[in-house]
Amino acid sequence: MSVAQAVQSDRYRPMDRSAPVFVAGRNGLVGSALWRLLTTEGFTALLGPGSTELDLRNRPAVFEWFAKHQPHAVILAAARVGGIKANDTRPTDFISDNLQIQVNVLDAALRHGVERLLFLGSSCIYPKRAAQPIREEALLTGPLEPTNEAYAIAKIAGITQIRSVRRQHGLPWICAMPTNLYGPGDNFHPEHSHVLPSLIRRFHRARTEQLPKVVNWGSGTPRREFLHADDLARACLLLLERYDSDSPVNVGTGEDLTIRELSDTVASVVGYEGAIEWDPSQPDGTYRKVLDISKIAALGWAPAIKLSDGIAETYAWYESTAP
Ligand code: GDP
Repeated sequence: MSVAQAVQSDRYRPMDRSAPVFVAGRNGLVGSALWRLLTTEGFTALLGPGSTELDLRNRPAVFEWFAKHQPHAVILAAARVGGIKANDTRPTDFISDNLQIQVNVLDAALRHGVERLLFLGSSCIYPKRAAQPIREEALLTGPLEPTNEAYAIAKIAGITQIRSVRRQHGLPWICAMPTNLYGPGDNFHPEHSHVLPSLIRRFHRARTEQLPKVVNWGSGTPRREFLHADDLARACLLLLERYDSDSPVNVGTGEDLTIRELSDTVASVVGYEGAIEWDPSQPDGTYRKVLDISKIAALGWAPAIKLSDGIAETYAWYESTAP
């Protein structure tokens, strides 16, 4: 399928900025970026209950919440997420929580006839050996990366549910597949977070405590692509207003770098000058997963935040909140 066919149309279907929009996962990395953007864009009725107010794994509570608040549109950015070690060691949590969150929100949205809905997946849904850069058509064409298979299967189930609703009920629900994300508000947990916040935390501690060396995980040779959450938020709004097809849409930069290069960049932003060692007993994960972004580029979106600028901004945020 050509990009022109896949994009379906560039028809602009504006979102009603005064209607209630449910940002599920509002306090997470993506949800908080969406909240900032939508507020700036003039949305006046955003809904974003925190997880203590509404546990999305609680099906009756989700249905009650939808009945009470009647959202007009939903962005499903809520998920249990984590880095390679969290995914590898706690796969049950990743498949179970994500399936429950998705099924509850999507079923409740269907029951209430929510017309505009965007489901967020992840680039890890694609086969481990997919041709690079990865096109959307690679979905379900081969085995997954084992370290995050449980999370990926949950996300693939979400895509299939969106496609099923489109086919059976004719609603224009859509899916976006972001690459590895980062930005202010990320999770900086030493064991469970993704690589970029982990490196910020590690180098910050090493600099402030004047440690002579740090040890990163794996070989440093895998390649990854990183997108700032604010760039993703802009893509989400654009897709909701311009895209209507059952194919997921990749959202990334289309450019990757080695973990070693990333580590050097973070060290330089943080001002750490000690030694950097690598621990090969830790998992590398997939060797490469860079996205083909031609579909969303054809709709007029491009990433705007340079990686080194985004890391500097994220580090400033981390420093301002670090204990
Ligand atoms: P992935 O993209 O699903 O593999 O998730 P991550 O962001 O957790 O890891 C990306 C890569 O960074 C893997 O090759 C890790 O081995 C490597 N890495 C190096 N140091 C760290 C670290 O401190 N934390 C994490 N999460 N990954 C690290």
